[in-house]
Amino acid sequence: TFSAPTDGETVRRHDKDHVFHAWGLAGADTMSVARTEGSWLWDTEGRRYLDFTSQLVNANLGHQHPRMVAAIQEQAARMATLGPAYSVDVRSEAARLIAERTPGDLDMVFFTTGGTEANENAIRMARVHTGRHKVLAAYRSYHGGTAGSMAATGEPRRWATEPGMPGVVHFWGPYPYRSAFHAESAEQECERALQHLRDVLMVEGPASIAAILLETVVGTNGILVPPDGYLQGVRDLCDEHGIVMISDEVMAGFGRCGEWFAVDHWGVVPDLLVFAKGVNSGYVPLGGVAISPAIADTFRTRPFTGGLTYSGHPLACASAIASIGIYEDEGIVEHARALGTDVIGPGLRALMERHPSVGEVRGLGVFWALELVRDRTTREPLVPYNATGEANAPMAAFTSACKERGLLPFVHFNTTHVVPPLTTTADEVREGLAILDEALEVADRSTTG
Ligand code: PLP
Repeated sequence: TFSAPTDGETVRRHDKDHVFHAWGLAGADTMSVARTEGSWLWDTEGRRYLDFTSQLVNANLGHQHPRMVAAIQEQAARMATLGPAYSVDVRSEAARLIAERTPGDLDMVFFTTGGTEANENAIRMARVHTGRHKVLAAYRSYHGGTAGSMAATGEPRRWATEPGMPGVVHFWGPYPYRSAFHAESAEQECERALQHLRDVLMVEGPASIAAILLETVVGTNGILVPPDGYLQGVRDLCDEHGIVMISDEVMAGFGRCGEWFAVDHWGVVPDLLVFAKGVNSGYVPLGGVAISPAIADTFRTRPFTGGLTYSGHPLACASAIASIGIYEDEGIVEHARALGTDVIGPGLRALMERHPSVGEVRGLGVFWALELVRDRTTREPLVPYNATGEANAPMAAFTSACKERGLLPFVHFNTTHVVPPLTTTADEVREGLAILDEALEVADRSTTG
């Protein structure tokens, strides 16, 4: 039998030699984690860190929630694995509980093991349902690491997989702070972004477009909250042209934005809603697509040609049931909303007053970004888009300053996101904001304005 050596030095050496990591340099140095609990991580040297990342913005219920651990243990003892073709209590109940919470008439659930596969299958459903081919997706988006989702992604991580899946067309979504439309207000941004989308539909030919795929609130690419009216405008365009509206809520859903789903803020019901991450906080890999009756009906007479060996895995479904129970019993969605309005929003705006490097604060729920700039007047980003090495030094220095003080920050290009678990207490958030306050002094040194 084998047991893993636990001393940090050995863990890091074996990692360096044998683990080929995602999104990074092979053989790079890593922080080795010994223990996790709630909103905290401890490294193998005993240092404690407040997790302002929820890892990849997935651990909504924090680390090692006892009810989650127990549910997985109990299910492992009852039935640890089962193929996707059968009905089984935990899968039926997980689907029912999710369908009960997804907006409008989204009543059936296709399970996957994560977000990217859910987007792949949503695109496939839309194509078969409409008999059309093209998919419109936004620049400054991330939809996942497999071929189709990558092709839909609107940022540099797509570049290495190009030309990728044919039929994807990108357009600009709303981003008032750096408007692609030279808009000067949120209303203007909304109006012009919708006109731009209308123009793209016109020249691409609406009758060839199967789906518009959009993150409801853009996550990794900067927490871009759409202006009021934008999503309804997209919904109307989809209705007008028979296009399937796919809302990617992999990051924004399951309470992250202070509602069960981010679309609930604007009362918009998509045709397909893609989820993962927060559904069970990543305790077991799980994702899925919530499906409208019209699209489900397409596949009542024509089998759906898509599936995964681990679709609706019993351990994942048991953990999803436990997760939804915790959301309800602990008032997680309400807590997330209050943290945003009472603690994180005001706290970040206060930081902006003190630090010239903060160009904009934006977000909702427990989904916030500080956009860091060299100059507030010109809005020049603190580091160039997609910067690496020396060009990225100011953001790297900011990240190190956070970690040295015991905070794990979520950093992407020139933004830092405040995305702790939804279970984080107001006091813990304040502790993290105090560290950000100190670390921003490091970023301020690179400002010129
Ligand atoms: N969609 C969005 C909006 C995401 O943020 C992510 C992951 O960060 C994905 C899809 C891909 O999910 P996964 O990594 O579970 O495949």
